[in-house]
Amino acid sequence: MRLHFPVDAIWRQVSRMGASKREYTLDSVIQEPLPPIVTSTGGVDVTIDEVDTAGGLLSCHGAQVVLYIPDHGKNVDRVLHKGSDGRRVHIADCMTLEQMRQKNRFQRYRAVVNVTGDFDVFGYSAEQGKKVESTARLQVCINCLKHLNYKGYMTEPRRQLEIRKNFNLKGFFAESSTLFRYLPTSFIEKKSGYTDDWKLISDKYRASKNFQCESCHVDLNAHKNLLHTHHIDGVKRNNQSSNLMAVCADCHRKQPLHDHMFIKAKDMALLQRLRRSQGIIGSKAQWSDLFELIDPPYSGLLRLYQKDGAARPEIGYELAGAHGEVVAEIEIAWPDAKFAVVGDDNVKTLLFGMGWKAVTLEDALRKFRDKR
Ligand SMILES: [Zn+2]
Ligand SMILES: [Zn+2]
Ligand SMILES: [Zn+2]
Repeated sequence: MRLHFPVDAIWRQVSRMGASKREYTLDSVIQEPLPPIVTSTGGVDVTIDEVDTAGGLLSCHGAQVVLYIPDHGKNVDRVLHKGSDGRRVHIADCMTLEQMRQKNRFQRYRAVVNVTGDFDVFGYSAEQGKKVESTARLQVCINCLKHLNYKGYMTEPRRQLEIRKNFNLKGFFAESSTLFRYLPTSFIEKKSGYTDDWKLISDKYRASKNFQCESCHVDLNAHKNLLHTHHIDGVKRNNQSSNLMAVCADCHRKQPLHDHMFIKAKDMALLQRLRRSQGIIGSKAQWSDLFELIDPPYSGLLRLYQKDGAARPEIGYELAGAHGEVVAEIEIAWPDAKFAVVGDDNVKTLLFGMGWKAVTLEDALRKFRDKR
């Protein structure tokens, strides 16, 4: 029997509705449109209960956001002169937001993907005798830094001033990239400034290093795309081999002035898997190695565990099932105690079923916060 499918007739109907034809092959990737929060520079107004959390951070429609209140009322004159006098920007699910939630104060916040640090503010200006709108350089909320133990804010109190001073949103978004589905790529400038023969030079240089990361030494012969060539002095036209360094995508993003560099969760997981199978992050690794090699969103928590006197955990741990197959990749694990910190509740449930105890990154951060 031959099936008759009236393609032409269908197309006539479809084109009457104003649709156009798109080429499709079985291997083409379906591009979903980005949610507006990822592309809008002004952000969207929300109440706290509309904001999701991921790993202790704030998210809207799968994208990382920060929250602030644009309305500065009669303070606006002062804030326009000095941004640090303004309302603070929340980057995490901190104590302040928790209290707002508990008191049922449904204050309007603005959720925004902001990588510049300049925020739209408004208020009534006494100087000008009218309502004004402008931008101000608002500062990050201290309770948020505490909540995340950001860069050791709680565990290394002597560094607090330095940590606050050096905080930059672009870097913060880049560090957190594995926790979110959408990256703020539309805000990040495109690569430029390379010489025409850069690809060739880079290929040759990486081959001369046997496709090994010069920082963590992971062997990427089987995944060459995850090995980058980095310019040590930051000048992309200075291609002398003494200025080059072959680094894996994770070590590359941790280089100075690389706060524009993102890594996808699946690439980070692959790098951790390779490092583990090659003995780089095995049970012999020291605390300092762990801080260097861990996915940054877990770093503050790891420091809290260390300060708390915990045994040295394993990172990028692979949990094997009954037949040796990998059933879960765990960022922080204590295999002897069968205890783990995981990314989300699904992995937590899975681990419970295998006789492990587990907490999510978010639970763990909150527990430390409540202890304080
Ligand atoms: Zn906060
Ligand atoms: Zn590396
Ligand atoms: Zn670089």
